Amino acid sequence: MADLPPPTLRLHIDRDALAHNWRALDRLSGQARAGAAVKADCYGLGVATCVPVLRDIGCRDFFVAHWSEVPAVLAHVPPEQIAVLHGVSEQSEAQYARATGVRPVIDSVAQARLWSEAGGGPCHLMVDTGINRLGIRPDEASDPSIQALSVEVLMSHLACADEDSDSNASQLAGFRSVVEQVAHRETSLANSAGVALGSDFAFDLTRPGLALYGGIPRPELADTIRQVAFPQAKIIQVRQIEAGECVGYNATFTAPRAMRIGVVSLGYADGILRSWGGGYFEAHSERLPILGKVSMDMIVVDLSGARAIGEGEWVDLPYHLPDAARQTSLSQYELLTVLGRRFG
Ligand SMILES: *Cc1c(COP(=O)(O)O)cnc(C)c1O
Repeated sequence: MADLPPPTLRLHIDRDALAHNWRALDRLSGQARAGAAVKADCYGLGVATCVPVLRDIGCRDFFVAHWSEVPAVLAHVPPEQIAVLHGVSEQSEAQYARATGVRPVIDSVAQARLWSEAGGGPCHLMVDTGINRLGIRPDEASDPSIQALSVEVLMSHLACADEDSDSNASQLAGFRSVVEQVAHRETSLANSAGVALGSDFAFDLTRPGLALYGGIPRPELADTIRQVAFPQAKIIQVRQIEAGECVGYNATFTAPRAMRIGVVSLGYADGILRSWGGGYFEAHSERLPILGKVSMDMIVVDLSGARAIGEGEWVDLPYHLPDAARQTSLSQYELLTVLGRRFG
């Protein structure tokens, strides 16, 4: 077989920055230790790349959403360190949890019954203190099937930790009241933004996701958190166009003058959505404005002011997440998790 040529787009992951971010969040968690939300393939950055880094610097608590996400994480860490946030809604899920030793996060009285009927064992328990997603209601804590659980981590999840909202204090109070009613080994409330809310929110274990991967959900974290993900792609063609010629689908850009343009090997199939229109790439500290609409596999940029940049050159999409979120109107979470599968 012939060797497959290298890809013309890549997602550079700065492993040192990832390690720095986890250590910083662990330190900011005070007495508590930091875990890691590694769901959605580490928010799009790759379990195989990120989980070994987190494991090697001391992270011991890994959270995924789905059972289908377990095998990739289980390849790197022991089963008891993995928690599945969606819990067990089917016999097959309970059986898989028991067979592997991976911990379900029990999310309802019905899940608690199903887990116990399947034989039970150590699990975590989610209490919904106001986000109204998954988790038992605080008044269900006294239910016998909840009281019968062998709870390792009793947890809740903040709805507005990235805002100065009254609901942070009320969720904290709600969580504290349940902590007294359910036997457990440890407690956990804070996501990335919750870590920045201070020691009251830290409990025994924090669960950052976004900030590990370079997201900045609160200004308090701005000076601490480093960018981790850097999308880069090659200029695969340079063209010269005349004044009046158009670029891209629906001809939304018309050249006001003769221009030198470049075709970048990256598009919305890679998660660089059309909301990047009006943005720019960078190379050698030159800005390369995006012209016209983003295509599935290509984005056209203006090279008029960047004579030195030619075919075969790598260019960078600025992906500092707070800036990119402002540029695109996407959330920092979306900017990471939409990144596609073609990156090398
Ligand atoms: C995704 C998730 C986290 C991580 O949240 P970030 O805002 O990304 O830090 C923590 N806990 C639960 C229950 C989650 O679903």
